[in-house]
Amino acid sequence: MNPQRPQLVHDLNQIRDIVRKAQSAGKKVGLVPTMGALHQGHLSLVEQSASQCDLTVVTIFVNPTQFAQDEDLAKYPRTLESDLELLSQFSPVIVLAPEAADVYPAGSSTAVQPPDVGRLWEGEKRPDHFAGVATIVLKLFNMVPAEIAFFGQKDYQQACVIQQMVKDLNVPMEIQVCPIVREPDGLAMSSRNRYLSQSERKTATVISQTLEIAEQMMREGETETQVILDQCMQELTAAHVDSIDYVTIADPITLELVQTIAGPVVILIAVYVGKTRLIDNRVIQL
Ligand code: AMP
Repeated sequence: MNPQRPQLVHDLNQIRDIVRKAQSAGKKVGLVPTMGALHQGHLSLVEQSASQCDLTVVTIFVNPTQFAQDEDLAKYPRTLESDLELLSQFSPVIVLAPEAADVYPAGSSTAVQPPDVGRLWEGEKRPDHFAGVATIVLKLFNMVPAEIAFFGQKDYQQACVIQQMVKDLNVPMEIQVCPIVREPDGLAMSSRNRYLSQSERKTATVISQTLEIAEQMMREGETETQVILDQCMQELTAAHVDSIDYVTIADPITLELVQTIAGPVVILIAVYVGKTRLIDNRVIQL
């Protein structure tokens, strides 16, 4: 057995004990919540935690409450063995892979109502998604009372929801949001990329290219978001993405739609390539 392989914990009392003991010994604990099927995007969060904390807890839990009935919960990739292998390069790391029955004990019915920043975009297309996300993240914060939790900008609106929830509910956790890690051709890394066929994988590169074109238009002085969004739609359509959930230019804090650009904005994209839903974003500060 690889001596570096991270300790795997399933028991919630055990993980709390480990975290509390580390903290009483003066250690700082970092938390990286994931659904597994780890890639370099996840590992960048672990790396960030390892650089700032004395112990990193990576949680791996495919959270059923954030998937709608027609979404990919059943087929979501579960690759615990290779996840543990990938995490072997970091130390000290503990993996918490809790049982669904412990996370959602029989009869549990309490949930977090997500903040207003979760209302638009993902919130409209996936109506119960952020309630599921906010609830599991708060639960994970309670299970693993770390000092800092690390999230990816890849899920931009999710990071906004979590930051606002922590403020609104006085949760004693620092939130750090880390940059998007991309494939060499620009595609944002995602556990869902493995669903893509070879030709879909090629089509998917149009997403980051569209973000690039939008940024370019802004840099060249275009301030009317409708003009930029029309061009984005044209790019995505020409590349034959299968459907476009939204392409928008929004205020990076409130996520309200921006009509005329006069400050920093975020471009948010959600599309289907084949049956796979992909999201990406870029913050632009001219
Ligand atoms: P997931 O396993 O998809 O729930 O993602 C777990 C965490 O990893 C979330 O905070 C994501 O935003 C983050 N993440 C996923 N993909 C990337 C990426 N390409 N770059 C940076 N962070 C990512």
